[in-house]
Amino acid sequence: MSSLQELRERVWRCNKELPRVGLVVHTFGNVSAIDRQEGVVAIKPSGVLYDDLKVDDIVLVDLDNKVVDGKLRPSSDTKTHTFLYRSFPDVGGIVHTHSTYAVAWAQAMKSIPIMGTTHADLLAADVPCTEAMTDEMIKGDYEEETGRQIVKAFDRLSYKEIPMVLVACHGPFTWGETPEKAVYHSLMLEEVAKMALLTLGINPAAPRLKETLIEKHHSRKHGPDAYYGQEK
Ligand SMILES: [Zn+2]
Repeated sequence: MSSLQELRERVWRCNKELPRVGLVVHTFGNVSAIDRQEGVVAIKPSGVLYDDLKVDDIVLVDLDNKVVDGKLRPSSDTKTHTFLYRSFPDVGGIVHTHSTYAVAWAQAMKSIPIMGTTHADLLAADVPCTEAMTDEMIKGDYEEETGRQIVKAFDRLSYKEIPMVLVACHGPFTWGETPEKAVYHSLMLEEVAKMALLTLGINPAAPRLKETLIEKHHSRKHGPDAYYGQEK
């Protein structure tokens, strides 16, 4: 099997995972992955129900959004994905969903504050929210501008340390070295979005997590002397 067919299968499997774990309903959401050597991105086709999605429905496009192989039209969000692949060279997979809690924060146009150790295990910072898009951006090349808006939010942030973002008024995009990691980040993002909202519902003045706890939890999982989990 060619490596591009393998990429297709992986992307198909990751897309099927989204409704299974409750991150998408109907046709919302999409997963893509890139073969950097070939410069080819595999992505979900536009408007196909997850139940009906077949491996060969996954569309292959190049980084200029031209279809390389596939019978169907690629996701309408393709230009956002390719913009991110062009801007973030170490990203191997991208996920976009409209998962409820992450969308709630995006619609409120608020970053998700780091409030507890679940969040700190995932990343040592708030989950950033982009600026709202201008009318020109919305009327222009909307999906490409969405990508540009995300990259702008990472002007002073590391996309490797913070593998996720909320697009204001829209929803989350997550990424990772692989599409499987990007799916995992989407799932965890939804959890921390839910936890932060519930926390602030109980106590609107609940504080941000202390730096020592952020550092402790993040470094025991991701630091040079990480000791969380089993040795591989
Ligand atoms: Zn969307």
